Amino acid sequence: MPELPEVETIVRDLEPLVRGHRLYNPTIHRPDVLRGVSKRRFERTLSRAVVESVYRRAKHAVFLLNSQDRVVIQPRMTGMLLVRPGRLSKAELKYAVFTTGLGNGSKLVFRDVRRLGTISLLSPRQWSEYDSKIGPEPLDPQFGEEAFARVLTGRAAIKKALMDQRKMAGVGNIYANEALFRAQIDPSRPANSIDSREAGALYRAVRAVLFEALEYRGTTFRDYRTGTGDKGNFQYHLDVYGRGGEPCRRCGSILVTTHEIDGRSTTFCWRCQSRRPKPA
Ligand SMILES: [Zn+2]
Repeated sequence: MPELPEVETIVRDLEPLVRGHRLYNPTIHRPDVLRGVSKRRFERTLSRAVVESVYRRAKHAVFLLNSQDRVVIQPRMTGMLLVRPGRLSKAELKYAVFTTGLGNGSKLVFRDVRRLGTISLLSPRQWSEYDSKIGPEPLDPQFGEEAFARVLTGRAAIKKALMDQRKMAGVGNIYANEALFRAQIDPSRPANSIDSREAGALYRAVRAVLFEALEYRGTTFRDYRTGTGDKGNFQYHLDVYGRGGEPCRRCGSILVTTHEIDGRSTTFCWRCQSRRPKPA
């Protein structure tokens, strides 16, 4: 599922192609992706609206219209957002769930093979209510170690806490695994058992791995594509995610994959990320 670096990459690709353009003939081809809005109202609201800006919040791509309504798209597993000059090919149209013409003659398309992604249309009031329930953005310059302390509350596994969107936005399974490896912390530890030295290491690891993944335009395991339709490149730089059974890059031990922590796959090094306290 696209996480912060993937959605940020998509949004940065789309923004210069979409911002300032008027929308023509917006069409929902698969109404089951809509949340809280009918096909009719969605299309009517978007028709001839101008896109004022395109940005990311958590794992959502947000299109701010001149009416101040927001189109919020969460690509999830197989969703792809692309801008194409001129007409869309048959293949591009095949899994299209939403298409719209742009003022310059190009087309914006949201394709989703499995249709796990969602689209909603939120008024300013609905957006601020929704936004207020999502935690802070970890790459925000304002996001310091004090803000990160909010993640380290409660007895849930630290891996789950990192992925809890109410505590911090944008981190999912891939980057939670990677950050915990970098900080050498056992993913199953209760969040509130992390001491201050570990907290500092984890804070730096979360930000570093997100910044690096963004530089490599995200991780393509299977379906994720950038806003230009290309694969990301961070999959070649992962330390643990998807590497169960392979040697740890740090100590050579065989990495272990478990589903016991949160039902998702967790890969870690039993030696580098052991529970034993490190000697001071
Ligand atoms: Zn190791």
